[in-house]
Amino acid sequence: MNVLKHIVVTGAAGFLGSHLVKSLIHQGHQVTGIDNLSTGVSSNLEEVANSHLFHFQEADVTLAASLDFLIDQPVDEVYHLASPASPKFYQADSIGTIWVNTQGTYHMLELARTKEAKFLFSSTSEAYGDPEVHPQPESYRGNVNTWGPRACYDEAKRLGEVFCYEYYTKHRVPVKVARIFNTYSSGLRNDDGRVISNFVTQALTGQDITVYGDGSQTRSFCYVDDNIRGLQKMMETEEANGEIINIGNPTEYTVLEVAYLVKKLAQSDSKLVFQPLPQDDPKVRRPVIDKARSVLGWEPEISLETGLKLTIENVRATLQETP
Ligand code: NAD
Ligand code: UDP
Repeated sequence: MNVLKHIVVTGAAGFLGSHLVKSLIHQGHQVTGIDNLSTGVSSNLEEVANSHLFHFQEADVTLAASLDFLIDQPVDEVYHLASPASPKFYQADSIGTIWVNTQGTYHMLELARTKEAKFLFSSTSEAYGDPEVHPQPESYRGNVNTWGPRACYDEAKRLGEVFCYEYYTKHRVPVKVARIFNTYSSGLRNDDGRVISNFVTQALTGQDITVYGDGSQTRSFCYVDDNIRGLQKMMETEEANGEIINIGNPTEYTVLEVAYLVKKLAQSDSKLVFQPLPQDDPKVRRPVIDKARSVLGWEPEISLETGLKLTIENVRATLQETP
């Protein structure tokens, strides 16, 4: 039988957080969503805003006192998703990004420890930096530049993972670290700056499609439903305690291939333009998901083409409502 729980989700108003909150509420759980609305927007949570199962708390998780409202409440699970994820946003708030993934992770782990709750940290494929091993298994230790514009995110996530390790080994908190690879769907902000939101918005509005560099760099894109199923599976699975697991789709595309695919599926006349490649932009990225398959029995089911069709339809509908 599915036992209903009280689940805390940080970053609840963000892209992944809002999808997770909706999924948990549909399953009948009581959910407290915490968000400081820095990159997230409350409209992402409209669908559940009036649900008796949902409570939203506007708060900054880097401040310990902001969690005082939970003092008298039992908590079963904590998903710590708060952190900007788009390079555009995390570089604009680089210091905040460091704090939310380190100090914020510490506060959420303390909450999990005191409540005897399970804990999931949303780490990132960026923990591998610009990888010299390809594809990337969890055992690969990465190639991150500490002295560059991506370091605030990559290194803060890596230190967040260290906090998780220490709380698992010292305090026996059942922690799970998900290294999430590029995830997409509609619902990403149009100004988010990430590649799928840029390309889809550009293709649908007739703007030039901006390919950075020559577009030969690769990424592997996971549709949001697959990702959320993976995160929940990880939280449920006892064998995932104290483990780092890649959550991503192992089918790899060059950025140029993605640009042409979006253009074709959106039946767009937009032309491709080439702009400078940002500093430290990883040249390749593709997860090894053997561990997710064996420990969680999870693998993605939605191809990029299917996911992009859904994304394009939904973004088209949104653009028609609010041009
Ligand atoms: P997002 O920017 O859409 O959502 C992040 C949310 O965190 C936002 O709502 C933001 O307002 C909130 N937030 C930021 N700082 C906060 C703070 N100090 N206190 C409270 N709330 C705060 O990003 P996303 O794509 O939903 O990513 C969610 C998580 O998944 C992040 O931790 C990100 O690093 C990780 N991740 C995402 C991807 C991806 O492709 N989407 C890939 C790898 C890792
Ligand atoms: N990119 C691009 N055009 C854009 C946005 C991104 O060519 O308008 C490229 C970017 O340089 C990177 C890839 O797409 O190589 C993925 O970028 P994104 O910001 O989505 O995520 P990243 O994986 O780099 O964190």
